[in-house]
Amino acid sequence: MKALILEQKENQTLAAVKDVALPALSEGDVRVDIDWSSLNYKDALAITGQGKIIRQFPMVPGIDFSGRVSESRDPRFTPSQAVLLTGWGVGESHWGGLAAQACVKGDWLVPLPENLSARHAMIIGTAGFTAMLCVMALQEAGVTPQSGTVVVTGASGGVGSTAVVLLKALGYTVAAVTGREATHAFLRQLGADEILPRSDFEQTRPLEKQLWAGAVDTVGGNVLAKVLAQTNYGGCVAACGLAGGFSLPTTVMPFILRNVRLQGVDSVSVPTAKRGEVWLRLAQLLPEAYYQQACREITLEQAPAVAADFLQNNIQGRTLVKISG
Ligand code: NDP
Repeated sequence: MKALILEQKENQTLAAVKDVALPALSEGDVRVDIDWSSLNYKDALAITGQGKIIRQFPMVPGIDFSGRVSESRDPRFTPSQAVLLTGWGVGESHWGGLAAQACVKGDWLVPLPENLSARHAMIIGTAGFTAMLCVMALQEAGVTPQSGTVVVTGASGGVGSTAVVLLKALGYTVAAVTGREATHAFLRQLGADEILPRSDFEQTRPLEKQLWAGAVDTVGGNVLAKVLAQTNYGGCVAACGLAGGFSLPTTVMPFILRNVRLQGVDSVSVPTAKRGEVWLRLAQLLPEAYYQQACREITLEQAPAVAADFLQNNIQGRTLVKISG
């Protein structure tokens, strides 16, 4: 099969499209003909070698994909059934979605919800799945549209832009934090009520004026520290990302004086039962306009160059990789 292969030579990660053989199926495995994959920030770190994502080489990157079952040794899946996959270490420690086919455990697959096409599933992808998990974390913490404004950081990225759309669909007032003025029109189109420059979030004090009922943070670092200092009494911050760095230069003040909750969000190891629920909610909530957004569509061969763009903060919204279909 044709696949993007990552190899390591002299501490450099090399990425090239090659023809490779797929392993045979073991009990419980499913082979999928991939229609669509997508590029996420983590794929960009893996493909460029700028993050220690890949532990064993050669590796096929691609942390998500959608397609049709071609062969199954799991009784829950049958040939031609439409499926999708995100996470589980696929594209990190197990060959991933930037290939014509994938062999994965049936436990990792989610049947495609009825009203979702394979392409739409990858417009959502890991980024949208994570955005939904963040929004659900805020809901579970009691943040309602009546509680006040929810702020989304890294708002023009894959996770951030989907979080803005989901929050608007649920009736929340949304403030979007972005580092790029060029994304303002895009963010307004998604429904952001207020747009704030990232530069406002560089400096922070332990506690600041309370502004946010909740937050979806995709960037970490000083931005997350400032968001915590500005979160209302009893509010919740769902933190899922590190696009601005993995440090968190904060104090205990928001937690011990304002009862603020910092809720971590992981999308890789979400239990199978919850995945189905998250995908159903995504399929129900996202409006048709979400799928009409100007998402970039690329080929396998273009993936290495576009991965570099991610790390230069040159990406807006979602990037789809067309495999077949
Ligand atoms: P994108 O590259 O699509 O978006 C990231 C956004 O962050 C950019 O669009 C930009 O938004 C902002 N940004 C970029 N560089 C910086 C910087 N130096 N400082 C502050 N902000 C910056 O990535 P994704 O949306 O796919 O992922 C976002 C983050 O979430 C990543 O760190 C990713 O690893 C993480 N993630 C975590 C998951 C989990 O399971 N926990 C799952 C999926 C993603 P703008 O220009 O608008 O400021």
